[in-house]
Amino acid sequence: MPYVLGLRCRECAREYEIAPIFTCEWCFGPLEVAYDYEAISGAISREKIAAGPASIWRYSDLLPVERNPAVDLGAGFTPLVRADRLASELGLGEVWIKNDTLNPTNSFKDRVTSVALSKALEFGFKTAACASTGNLANSVAAHAAHAGLRSFVFIPANLEQGKIITTAVYGGNVVAIDGNYDDVNRLCAELAGMYPWAFVNVNVRTFYAEGSRTLAFETAEQLGWETPDHVVVPVASGSLLTKIRKGFGELHTVGLLDEEPKVRVSGAQALGCSPVAAAWLNDTENIKPVKPSTIAKSLAIGNPADGYFALDAVRQTGGGFAAVTDEEIVDGMRLLARTEGIFAETAGGVTIATLRRLADQGVVRPDERVVAYITGHGLKTLDAVADQVGPTATIPASLDAFHAAFDPSTFDQ
Ligand SMILES: *Cc1c(COP(=O)(O)O)cnc(C)c1O
Ligand SMILES: [Zn+2]
Repeated sequence: MPYVLGLRCRECAREYEIAPIFTCEWCFGPLEVAYDYEAISGAISREKIAAGPASIWRYSDLLPVERNPAVDLGAGFTPLVRADRLASELGLGEVWIKNDTLNPTNSFKDRVTSVALSKALEFGFKTAACASTGNLANSVAAHAAHAGLRSFVFIPANLEQGKIITTAVYGGNVVAIDGNYDDVNRLCAELAGMYPWAFVNVNVRTFYAEGSRTLAFETAEQLGWETPDHVVVPVASGSLLTKIRKGFGELHTVGLLDEEPKVRVSGAQALGCSPVAAAWLNDTENIKPVKPSTIAKSLAIGNPADGYFALDAVRQTGGGFAAVTDEEIVDGMRLLARTEGIFAETAGGVTIATLRRLADQGVVRPDERVVAYITGHGLKTLDAVADQVGPTATIPASLDAFHAAFDPSTFDQ
């Protein structure tokens, strides 16, 4: 790994060797991978990236993994779709959807899992594990199966049926816990101290988190090596938002962007689990843990590990936050489907509903180039819309019945 210097504490900057560790012994701050950006600048180029695979691994010079081949199901390089119909509904100008529903297990979590499990193999782990709000469970189970690793994934028992099936099908161990995500996470922290397992969001979280930066790298590349003016990002632990912001800056540091990016970053949460949005709205640094109650289960982390960093990123870049109701979430899912043909899960509904709120408030402006991150597929959370959509008409198989149901004078001739 020529381009990684080691690990560095995000609080006190103390340095550590590369290892499956995640907190500073000195101050208990979270650790982060430190890169040799000068060496990366010398090695990386737009042409080299363009010649790479159509996956996150086209940015391998910027990822903390030396294993080749990596644990790879093809995560990343998902479409960036211009969304003019959505933009006009929202009174905005240039809007793009980063469609991360089209990953191998249909959520952005494949990016972080692919990096974390590649690193886990390097470290010699034989078992992969995670605490999950649903999508990480899908992704870890699939990537572990592909890599021949044993797996234990821990989920809240009240998860959507769709997410349990799409995890269990891969044949690993799925452990449903009688409790919410924060309970699951607490158990996993104990287990991680006991067994030599790669918990992707505990002891290898430092590496896991780095995978999210590829969403910024791809967005810039797909915009012709330019950056958006404003991005809207869903927030669970706050890691994704923090790392997207970091990724744009790194592209400039290594010489891939001509100008220093000025990307405003806004965060999206569901009202039923909005500890970070609440801190922003109340203008405080103090993030109060909550007990989640929302249909956006993939974002239902009541005590977000990176909440403070996400809050700081939104403040520093002049973005905003919204906390949207379950009703707005479903409306957001349906709006995106109706205007752009993209079916997102509830987290995508949170993002679109937040975009709508921030547009109404003038926080996201019509003169901005906006990217909304759609991070999970609608087939995972069918229940959210099941009682709202169905056949337009149910009729006998006759022309008369069809013409009785639909006025032919309105048809194209
Ligand atoms: C996990 C997840 C997120 C955000 O995750 P962070 O914990 O904030 O990094 C966003 N959308 C979906 C669909 C997710 O599964
Ligand atoms: Zn420290």
